[in-house]
Amino acid sequence: MLAIGAIAGGPSVTAATTGAAISVRGLTRRFGAVVAVDDVSLEIAAGEFIALLGPSGSGKSTVLMSLAGFDLPDAGRILIGGEDCTHLPPHRRNIGMVFQNYTLFPHLSVADNVAFPLKMRGIGRAERRARAEAALEVVRLSGFGARMPRQLSGGQQQRVALARAIVYRPRVLLMDEPLSALDKNLREEMQIEIKRLHSELGITIVFVTHDQGEALTMADRVAILRAGRVQQIAPARTLYERPANLFAAGFIGDMN
Ligand code: ADP
Ligand code: MG
Repeated sequence: MLAIGAIAGGPSVTAATTGAAISVRGLTRRFGAVVAVDDVSLEIAAGEFIALLGPSGSGKSTVLMSLAGFDLPDAGRILIGGEDCTHLPPHRRNIGMVFQNYTLFPHLSVADNVAFPLKMRGIGRAERRARAEAALEVVRLSGFGARMPRQLSGGQQQRVALARAIVYRPRVLLMDEPLSALDKNLREEMQIEIKRLHSELGITIVFVTHDQGEALTMADRVAILRAGRVQQIAPARTLYERPANLFAAGFIGDMN
């Protein structure tokens, strides 16, 4: 594993980063009469890049929020790195999260935005600075620390959000449609950046998208969701060649 972003003798974003395996067993979440997540089980290997793909309302975000600990399931268990996290609060799970609306704090500099999770964890100023700079280097924004968010392009702001998600060296990175607000060119550029980050950090990534092409080009394996249930979980090639059912075939075939 490369130690990208390492400062000689100083803290590295990658130093302690090794992906954790994730085990989701019988996850179920209801909202009134709606079964948002219906008995979902997933085994994700350490360091794997998995995409959750499905149409709007299929339960992708709810699975991700359960993994992050922002939403508690009605049934089922979640293990991260072998530890039962089902009832742990988000800050005890060692995960980083990037949302679709990657809101940065507009009144904080780029460096302070990135360092924010470290401040929340009571880490001292000098270490915060060094680790924020290392994280900015990983997303290729060295030297941008003093700028304000409004002085950056959309893609650069999204990279700051990525730096903020990895600054405390999580073992798992969860991303909920992180690129859908970007235009086509930026989206493709960021897809490549995220893939690079994945191979450099060795982190486990769960990437939610409703875009078939994005899922199939980026992920090691794709889990297709429909109405809260996993239809098929397989590498892209298998999904093309041997779709498990008509929904999977139609959904993958729908790609242009
Ligand atoms: P996706 O991310 O695939 O679009 P979601 O996980 O957001 O799907 O939603 C799955 C289902 O659960 C949808 O029918 C949605 O309306 C419902 N749902 C999600 N969150 C809530 C909530 N907080 N309250 C009520 N219903 C919800
Ligand atoms: Mg969603």
